[in-house]
Amino acid sequence: MRAVIIDKPGEIRVGSVTDPTPGPEDLIIRVGACGICGTDLHIAQGEFPPTPYPIVPGHEFAGEVVAVGTALQRSGAAQKFAVGARVAVDPSIFCGRCLFCRNGQGNLCQNWNAIGDTVNGAFAEYVAVPVANAYPLPEHVSLREAALIEPVSCAVHGVHRLAPRLGDTMLIVGAGTMGLLLLQLVLRGGASRVAMLDLNTQRLTLAEKLGAYHTASSIDDLLAVEPEGFDCVIDATGVPAAIEGAFKAVKRGGKFMVFGVAPNEAKVALSPFRIYNDEITIVGSMAVLHSYQQAVDLVSGGAINTALMLTEALPLDAFPQALTMVRQGKGIKTQILPNG
Ligand SMILES: [Zn+2]
Ligand SMILES: [Zn+2]
Repeated sequence: MRAVIIDKPGEIRVGSVTDPTPGPEDLIIRVGACGICGTDLHIAQGEFPPTPYPIVPGHEFAGEVVAVGTALQRSGAAQKFAVGARVAVDPSIFCGRCLFCRNGQGNLCQNWNAIGDTVNGAFAEYVAVPVANAYPLPEHVSLREAALIEPVSCAVHGVHRLAPRLGDTMLIVGAGTMGLLLLQLVLRGGASRVAMLDLNTQRLTLAEKLGAYHTASSIDDLLAVEPEGFDCVIDATGVPAAIEGAFKAVKRGGKFMVFGVAPNEAKVALSPFRIYNDEITIVGSMAVLHSYQQAVDLVSGGAINTALMLTEALPLDAFPQALTMVRQGKGIKTQILPNG
């Protein structure tokens, strides 16, 4: 089959690899759509430490079952996952036996793996997935929409971690895919008003269409509108300077969530006096935990404006160009359609 292969950091090609065969508890999925995300940029550059090379990347995907493992055929569990079933896939693979898995914190697993990050993924015509990771899709959800479920599930986990109160005012810094998904979820989850900050004014226009009451490109502009700051501030950029700026906009008694992925060695300067004196809560949110089915339900229930989120869709052969577009910040969610 055809697949994107990263032989080593910086060396990306589209070529032929052996077709995947299903393990006893696996499904083989014919990939309908697979989104490109910031993690893929890091994997392409060798900046995602768990990735072994060569690897076929791609972890935000949905498709159609074309083969079913032997154990599933025997158990009859294959009914929901029979050949022809349409599924979205949670890429996380938790070991189930480490301290954190046993404590229900699989996203912090000491032996963490993920389809497309540490094992071959879905920028390919076909991909093997454990049946436990597959979620059947309602008829009316397209495979392109379903490939958005994975980033939505990360945003759902973020909102679980933030645990906002009904009526909280919020600021989201960064109006890329994750910022715009978080915007839609917190508006549904009880935020009274949400402001957004980004340097890219095209993205701010989208943020306004999706319900942001105020948008700006500098923290000082926002503080002129909300002098006391916001009950909850979310950084969805991972950029140290943006994080330091965003921290200034947390209201006394408020919460600050670090959602964006900063480089491993990055440092920020925050005032410990302010954290103490203003009773500021700082939380982190990492990937997906008990939030995938909710994301399936939110997308199929119409909570996400998928038409505004899904911009370019390109064939497998155009992967290198698609990666460049994502790196340049063009569009919102760029997807690859490996089977045309
Ligand atoms: Zn991702
Ligand atoms: Zn584990």
